[in-house]
Amino acid sequence: MSQYELPELEFSPDALEPYIDKETMILHHDKHHRTYVTNLNAALDQHPELKDHSLTDLIAHVEKIPEDIRTAVRNNGGGHYNHSLFWKILIPGGAHEPAGKLKEAIESQLGGFDTFKSRFSAAAAGQFGSGWAWLTLDERNLLQITGTPNQDSPLMKQEKPILGIDVWEHAYYLNYQNRRPEYIKNFFQLINWDFVTDAYEKILNKG
Ligand code: MN
Repeated sequence: MSQYELPELEFSPDALEPYIDKETMILHHDKHHRTYVTNLNAALDQHPELKDHSLTDLIAHVEKIPEDIRTAVRNNGGGHYNHSLFWKILIPGGAHEPAGKLKEAIESQLGGFDTFKSRFSAAAAGQFGSGWAWLTLDERNLLQITGTPNQDSPLMKQEKPILGIDVWEHAYYLNYQNRRPEYIKNFFQLINWDFVTDAYEKILNKG
């Protein structure tokens, strides 16, 4: 039976300083994310028949998961999926704006990069308590800005995330304490727009 595994970071834990500090990255990746993986595997051990399904399948149809492990899969499967995506979205010194088709779509569908940035930041700042803000594609492949509580994924509402910011306190509290807006502002210094643009185009090309 296959088990989910903690993915390696593609950069060293101090590579995102000064915007995200080394200690936060180590705790966030090696402790918080690892716990989601461990708990997801433990839940699926209760229902090994589910191990044949992909993680995205399990999350997108979480209402079909047996009730005794549904909350565990929702929280820990969502946590594993969200964080695995989050690490790919981050890069030290990345391109600071999207390019190609995504740049065009942000202009035509969201009113341009500055409007996108302020709406995304507002969604992140306004997410009450723990959760995420996202740039997603809806069922018609139109861009949407949305938030989810806890470790819920946009996949649970049939949207495909291409960019997300973790606004749980564990993502920023050591460095920023209660200054979530400052963390959000600095997050824009770290976005791997090449990855996000590529993710966007892959979804479009699937039709
Ligand atoms: Mn997190």
